[in-house]
Amino acid sequence: MKRVLQNARAKRKVLVVEDEWINREILGNMLSEEYDVAYAENGQQAISLLQEDADSFSLILLDLMMPVMGGEEVLKICRSDTALTGIPVIVITQDEDAEVSSIRAGADDFIKKPYDMPEVILARCERIIDLYEQKKLIDSAEIDPLTGLYTRDFFFEYIRQMEKYSDANMDAIVMDVEHFHLINEIYGRSEGDRILKKISSVIMTELRDSFAIACRCAADTFYIYHSCSSDYCMLAEKILGEMASVSFKSTKIRLRIGVNKSVDRNTAPEQWFDHAKLACDGLRGDYTKQIAYYDSAAHDRQLYHERLIRDMDSSIANKNFTVYFQPKYGIEGDRPVLKSAEALIRWIHPELGMINPGDFIPLFESNGLVQKLDRFVWEEAASQIAFWKKKFGFTIPVSVNVSRIDIFDPDLEDRLLGILDKNGLSSGEMLLEITESAYSDSAERLIEVVNNLRAKGFRIEMDDFGSGYSSLNMLTTIPIDVLKMDMKFVSNMLKDDKSLKLCELVMDISKFLEVPVVAEGVEEKAQLDKLKDMGCTIIQGYYFSKPLPADQFEKLIKKETEA
Ligand code: C2E
Ligand code: MG
Ligand code: MG
Repeated sequence: MKRVLQNARAKRKVLVVEDEWINREILGNMLSEEYDVAYAENGQQAISLLQEDADSFSLILLDLMMPVMGGEEVLKICRSDTALTGIPVIVITQDEDAEVSSIRAGADDFIKKPYDMPEVILARCERIIDLYEQKKLIDSAEIDPLTGLYTRDFFFEYIRQMEKYSDANMDAIVMDVEHFHLINEIYGRSEGDRILKKISSVIMTELRDSFAIACRCAADTFYIYHSCSSDYCMLAEKILGEMASVSFKSTKIRLRIGVNKSVDRNTAPEQWFDHAKLACDGLRGDYTKQIAYYDSAAHDRQLYHERLIRDMDSSIANKNFTVYFQPKYGIEGDRPVLKSAEALIRWIHPELGMINPGDFIPLFESNGLVQKLDRFVWEEAASQIAFWKKKFGFTIPVSVNVSRIDIFDPDLEDRLLGILDKNGLSSGEMLLEITESAYSDSAERLIEVVNNLRAKGFRIEMDDFGSGYSSLNMLTTIPIDVLKMDMKFVSNMLKDDKSLKLCELVMDISKFLEVPVVAEGVEEKAQLDKLKDMGCTIIQGYYFSKPLPADQFEKLIKKETEA
């Protein structure tokens, strides 16, 4: 590495600061073969040369006794000016006492006058330049040049070292500036840099007395590793307060902070911060909160959901999805009669086992994937209806669920008719269940779609009725054929009076709309009797049967027809 550097720039530049010309000559002769030499006759000249182009100098040889400005003053300036502090200084002196004081003042070495051992002087120059260059190299990997905080790599290396000596409870914190790219774009990069520097300097000041380290990880992302503390709001307030005291063009700066409390030492440090970052990213666009805490249960859920999303396609291809059928019974007569069924999807995952639709339907509804599943279920249901129709000589109508998103599919009608057509069925043989909340979410569109479907002969069941807060006004305009009472009311109708009253209310609404009610979730005889008293004519629930695979449902049809 050192050799590469030395070859890269053949001659370093040395500044000789010396008021006596003869001494300048002697030093110049000694150095000029190895170095480019620049000269200054006093401290003032030296400082202006250095300030003009600090980066070009590799070493200063500094006389102490000079007119205008002496060497000690030059040394003081060099050590307090951040642009000059990286240039090593060798003091030239005759005075033994001055050696100690100049080293204390920040000189790196000293040379005695007269200059009687040129090789020693040259060797000292070379050694000091080497030392500084190596230090700079190490520093540059260690320190982010813009902010003075650690770099990401060094930060993690430092944490690993800390881990060897401390088992204190620690938090991982990720701090991010909201819309930082916009600040850069609107106000320019230098304004962006100014903000980052300010944030960093407050972080440094605030952490000075804490057991903590910090780095700038990426453009506007800061990582802090901090002994457990409950109040990072204070830190954020402090930073924002300090920012407000400096006049930034962009005054509305917002910080997001994600905290992973008490990091789990069984995992890698990078993961502690990935998790804090997840919490931090979760705050994007949420202006009510500044800090979020990583929640491992929520993260596990997120990973589980990712897995389900990833596996959906292959599971369709591998036939890991299957359709179950739950019977609906008419209870008007003396004995219940099998009338129809609802098709309900089941996922038998090769590794995770049976997954409940409650786990994946809402997830796939939120990202649109549910459409694919619905189509699969419609096709399976239709082919099953056709199969039983052929086998038994009559139709068991099956209801399929239609998701909210399907309503916005311009091809919905054609798609459904296409599936029925393929199986030789008519639209009266497959019913459509649409959840009530879809009606209240997008009423106009839905009414239009439902009207079109009914005109083609489909019958529409409003699913989960009572949970979707339809307005009474809307109910009178909604075109439906069946109301499916929300299961919650049925489950609680014998436990609390309010649920019972709601069941009665649903029955009244159904009479007003002149449509039958299907009561879902009936598990007990007492519930069935009560619903029958109220005038409910169709029952779906475990009391009669859980959803069944097609072959078992077929046995049920046989049993019922024989009876
Ligand atoms: P849903 O459409 O309201 O279906 C009725 C749910 O109630 C089914 O749950 C059924 O198994 C359950 N159930 C019926 N009777 C009883 C009972 O007596 N007790 C209890 N505890 N539960 C009973 P499942 O199959 O888990 O489905 C849950 C929901 O997932 C469905 O509610 C529906 O919203 C959705 N879903 C199921 N299959 C599909 C599908 O193919 N497409 C779409 N879009 N959604 C589906
Ligand atoms: Mg349903
Ligand atoms: Mg339902």
